[in-house]
Amino acid sequence: MEVRRSARRRRTVTAYQESGRTVVLIPAAFTPAEERRWVAQMVAKLQTREERRRRSLGGDEELMGRARALSAAHLDGVPQPASVRWVGNQQRRWGSCTPADGSIRLSSRLRSMPEYVVDYVLVHELAHLIEPSHDARFWALVARYPRAERARGFLEGVESVRADGAGGDDGDLVD
Ligand SMILES: [Zn+2]
Repeated sequence: MEVRRSARRRRTVTAYQESGRTVVLIPAAFTPAEERRWVAQMVAKLQTREERRRRSLGGDEELMGRARALSAAHLDGVPQPASVRWVGNQQRRWGSCTPADGSIRLSSRLRSMPEYVVDYVLVHELAHLIEPSHDARFWALVARYPRAERARGFLEGVESVRADGAGGDDGDLVD
């Protein structure tokens, strides 16, 4: 965690996650006691938000339900995945699928990301069940998900932050 003091801030405190770290911005005029109180409060707030997100994303069963709903909403219900699950050993990819057996795997690192990003990776993998390659037909399917561009931008941002970090693992891909 990192606390940054800002001369321009008067009373506002902001906390956010930046490349896996919590950054808390506080006014430069805060006393050490005020800093401790506010930092504890903001960290608790972020934790609650994270907990809520974890609960709503749930386990493999919830993930399968989400994939089915996205298939119905954006891909005419054509992709019918046989299994959708979270995996912890997928360091270099956000998601992957095996069209032959209809299985989809999502990196558990996505759990800390906004839901529209998780949904984008699901739509990406679902589209691969129709079109395995990254051709024009495939991208036309993915573009049916309204926030596809925004989600890709988000993931690219995460990737470039990682690539810049010490010993960063570059080349994270949605496969
Ligand atoms: Zn792909």
